[in-house]
Amino acid sequence: MENCIFCDIASKILPKEFLYEDNELMAFTDIKPLAPVHILIVPKEHIASINSLKESHKNLIGNMFLLAKEMAKDYEISEGYKITFNTGRKGGQLIDHLHLHLMGGWKEDQ
Ligand code: AMP
Ligand code: ZN
Repeated sequence: MENCIFCDIASKILPKEFLYEDNELMAFTDIKPLAPVHILIVPKEHIASINSLKESHKNLIGNMFLLAKEMAKDYEISEGYKITFNTGRKGGQLIDHLHLHLMGGWKEDQ
């Protein structure tokens, strides 16, 4: 998809240090972290938002959640974290390429 920053990252047009990468997913640190650990888990395929999901994306979505769980363990935040799909402008979504926010590492209860 043209003019999509996450597609540019997926196709390596825009350099980005990945924390995780496989054929379908990539994960990197959010550029403006809202938590001590703030990771974005992003499919390489351009999917605009949760509203654009199809039956054929079932596995992909499952894999995003499983990766979030694994990365929470790797980044030592398993004790408490938030995972969020912001959806639509009114839901706080600014980048129209699906991404799961994984946030944690707070010292205090949230
Ligand atoms: P959302 O508001 O749910 O669409 O989230 C988009 C997120 O992407 C925000 O938290 C931004 O800080 C983050 N972001 C934007 N550009 C980049 C980038 N080049 N690298 C990493 N994170 C980014
Ligand atoms: Zn895209």
